[in-house]
Amino acid sequence: LRVVIIGGGAAGMAAASRIKRLQPKWDVKVFEASRYVSHAPCGIPFHVAGYVESLDDLCAYDVSFFREDRGIDVRIGSRVVEAGDGYVIVERNGEVEEHGWDHLLIATGTRPATLSAGCRVLEGVMCVGSIEDSVYIRDAAKKAKNIVIVGSGYLGIEMVDAMLRLHKKVTVIEMGSHPLPEYDVEIGELLKRNMEKLVEFRANERVLEIEGRDRVERVVTDKGEYKADLVVLCTGVEPNVELAKQLGAKIGDSGAIWTDEYLRTSVDGVFAAGDCAETTNIVTGRSDWIPLAAPANKMGYVAGSNIAGMNVRYPGSLKSQLTSFLDLEIGKAGLSEKEAVKAGYDVVSATVISRARAKYIPDGKSITLKMVAERNGRVLGVQAAGVGVSKRIYGASALLYKGANVEDFFFTDFPFYPPKSPVWDPLVIAARNLFRKLGIK
Ligand SMILES: Cc1cc2nc3c(=O)[nH]c(=O)nc-3n(C[C@H](O)[C@H](O)[C@H](O)COP(=O)(O)OP(=O)(O)OC[C@H]3O[C@@H](n4cnc5c(N)ncnc54)[C@H](O)[C@@H]3O)c2cc1C
Repeated sequence: LRVVIIGGGAAGMAAASRIKRLQPKWDVKVFEASRYVSHAPCGIPFHVAGYVESLDDLCAYDVSFFREDRGIDVRIGSRVVEAGDGYVIVERNGEVEEHGWDHLLIATGTRPATLSAGCRVLEGVMCVGSIEDSVYIRDAAKKAKNIVIVGSGYLGIEMVDAMLRLHKKVTVIEMGSHPLPEYDVEIGELLKRNMEKLVEFRANERVLEIEGRDRVERVVTDKGEYKADLVVLCTGVEPNVELAKQLGAKIGDSGAIWTDEYLRTSVDGVFAAGDCAETTNIVTGRSDWIPLAAPANKMGYVAGSNIAGMNVRYPGSLKSQLTSFLDLEIGKAGLSEKEAVKAGYDVVSATVISRARAKYIPDGKSITLKMVAERNGRVLGVQAAGVGVSKRIYGASALLYKGANVEDFFFTDFPFYPPKSPVWDPLVIAARNLFRKLGIK
């Protein structure tokens, strides 16, 4: 059978590899618009900051590995410009060609959501989308004196961090009241205080214009004007769904491609996986759009398995995430309180500030952790900032996946080792604090 995969990112290459493993004789073609496959946009901030020298190092495997070791017909520099019943039209080096398919996987990812001005509206204005953008940003950053980052979601935070490591002067413009708008204020404010020590953080401010003659010179907001010779727009992403629409596939409320739990779209023979597709939020049980790398890889694995004839269910995602700003780790699994309230839950929450280690190993480092639960005791989410965040988010993710309640969090045996954790883990203390609010003795 002939399989066509559109997009050679995490989801597309995971699917292609799986199909070839299960059905070695099938003809599996991957069309990828850029020059890279199995690339990791997650590595862009580290490339900009200078930790990673070559873009090739941001790719899990190179094209020849997929072609020679896995037998996948990978075509780079090949953009699918049209998709219809049983065929795709591909543009490559100005030429177009048609290819047929029996199964099609759409794995086209996202693109940066722009302000009205758009990406690259002027020389010196950039979005952070593909790894190819990274070279431009890094070169421009090295020469820049005044850098403005618009937006302070995790992408914005990581770009600010990268610019600080290049010893640059940075202004951040955020229309919300604190960075990481999906997090609650207890975590957002802590991060904001840390950022304000090193950058000009302009909260509750909206960009109106990005101005300049031959290249960018300033950013104009509803409250002021900021000199800029590099502006990086980190204003979110939106799913690439044009080809899915051409095929007549249903688009979900989130704007991403609707899929069932086997990652089939509403069109026969067409699957979708990764950032372009909707999935289930494991906490709410509702459809959600969760554009993150770990789910994208697994969705690719599941879609590939099912295309190859298996019947694997994708349970969804918890939206677990980690990021950092210099030494401050920040992470979240499940819902924040504001997300939970918006989803209609009646919630209780507890925020604890705990030592990061045993008290006889003093270093002044702490972790702030917030737990949100439903009135029936089921935990809906955990967020944290400070030191030792990642292990708490890993632990919380595992428990949330199983629908754990506050007693499960309390009684889980999180290990104790003086240099690494206090004997009463912050997850345990937060759960215990919720006992009181929930009337549990
Ligand atoms: C700067 C940055 C940092 C990030 N950090 C993290 C992180 O720390 N943790 C995390 O979980 N996630 C992170 N992400 C998100 C993560 O990169 C994505 O979730 C993941 O790459 C999604 O994989 P995907 O295969 O669905 O899409 P992508 O990796 O975007 O791949 C889609 C591919 O499709 C190709 N394509 C699109 N349209 C066409 C077409 N018409 N024809 C041919 N090819 C096409 C694109 O060129 C692209 O290569 C980050 C993203 C960015 C931008």
